[in-house]
Amino acid sequence: MSAPSSPAFSNRSAPPKSDERIAVIGAGIVGSAIAWCLARDGHPVLLLDRADPASAGASFGNAGHIAVEQLEPLPSIELLLTFWRELTLCGGCVHIPLHRLAALAPWLARFTAAAFHQQRNTPSLAALVRPAADILERTLRDIGRPELLMRRGHYAFWFGSRAREQAAREAQEARERGFGIEPAPAELTGVIKARTPGAVAGLWFRDSAHVLDPQNVAAALVQAAVRAGGQFQREEVLEIFPEGGRVAVRTAGQLLKVRAAVVCAGVQSAPFLRRFGLRAPLTSERGYHLEFADTPALSDAPVVYASHDLIVTPMRGRLRATSYLEFERHGAPPDVRKIERLRRTLEGLGYTSRTRHDGWVGSRPTLPDYLPGIGRAPGDAPLFYAVGHQHLGLTLSTPTAEAMAALVSGREPPFDLRPLDLRRFGAPRPR
Ligand SMILES: Cc1cc2nc3c(=O)[nH]c(=O)nc-3n(C[C@H](O)[C@H](O)[C@H](O)COP(=O)(O)OP(=O)(O)OC[C@H]3O[C@@H](n4cnc5c(N)ncnc54)[C@H](O)[C@@H]3O)c2cc1C
Repeated sequence: MSAPSSPAFSNRSAPPKSDERIAVIGAGIVGSAIAWCLARDGHPVLLLDRADPASAGASFGNAGHIAVEQLEPLPSIELLLTFWRELTLCGGCVHIPLHRLAALAPWLARFTAAAFHQQRNTPSLAALVRPAADILERTLRDIGRPELLMRRGHYAFWFGSRAREQAAREAQEARERGFGIEPAPAELTGVIKARTPGAVAGLWFRDSAHVLDPQNVAAALVQAAVRAGGQFQREEVLEIFPEGGRVAVRTAGQLLKVRAAVVCAGVQSAPFLRRFGLRAPLTSERGYHLEFADTPALSDAPVVYASHDLIVTPMRGRLRATSYLEFERHGAPPDVRKIERLRRTLEGLGYTSRTRHDGWVGSRPTLPDYLPGIGRAPGDAPLFYAVGHQHLGLTLSTPTAEAMAALVSGREPPFDLRPLDLRRFGAPRPR
């Protein structure tokens, strides 16, 4: 028997004929946004996840930053030459465990190749990133939850003897890309300076934004989808396969033949896509967070500590500090040493708390070129996908959902999706 829907996400109307529904597999922020846009456009939607929306994947614990300034995919020639400085061994935030090197080798080879195409790939990512705060704002207004988004920008601070030079370079680059940049307010800079010895330089990025609670955003989108006639069911999806011009979805309790399906199961998406001739070389790039329930925020916008590789976001009722880029297997136990190191770094920056948060780890779903995979599978089966949203899944969720709603409805997508087609990675390997 299928697990019941959580009460908050149930609706009372009778389910439409199973065959006419569009199954959305995965209720992270990407699936939740897609479910809303499809339901808004009048499609009968069945959203499936083994857990409540945005409670089991990366979407639960992210930094809440709508990072409209991050236009470039990460792989670059400069990074290839300097990445060693970012390793945890050298005090940075990137950890590639030795035991993972063999398994990661093909992904790292593709990453290296993508570094030489950063310039070509940037417009494809930038097209989705640039309008992200506007699209999220419009979406949250449409569903009656505008208060979940704060459009206050974010602050970034650099520390040490090169702080001024680094901030000046960032400001110059951001201005060249057309972003509004100003020096961080003297009052905030003064507070940060008082907490940390040495030189400090700060900037205010005016155009970014943040959400007050990433999980609440996903839950609000799912509730809106349900109000518009969609359904959410808590079920593990075991397999999907093409079936007579439709898509068969097998869960623990049922076998459905749906009109179409959208795969957006985060880092666990690849096995679902293989049956449809698609290869998604996703890796899990894990990040950690710590929360402070009783620590006052320094500002009403996120503060990026650029020299410490972390961001502190003011969220509803708490601060959340996130960091790390750990190439560990999805589902492996958290590395408590990283959590304790993050705690010590935050203490050094003046963030202390009477209550002790144990920390959280989650897997960013990342393709080696740091472009998402958004499109339709080849062949007759109506199988769509939205995967690989890397460090930017919250930012990209509503632009992706608008593109997916257009694709499924047969409209021209608002972005050029051709560079995001997963066929760029070739056919799946025979098993
Ligand atoms: C520490 C950290 C900080 C981050 N900060 C930011 C940020 O500030 N801004 C930003 O834009 N992005 C940020 N990100 C990235 C962002 O969180 C992710 O890109 C995004 O959450 C990915 O969303 P998703 O819906 O694709 O995947 P997920 O959130 O992982 O959701 C996938 C869902 O699929 C479900 N699922 C998988 N397999 C099955 C199955 N077989 N049956 C049923 N359900 C299944 C899972 O239960 C899960 O709910 C951050 C990530 C991390 C880890």
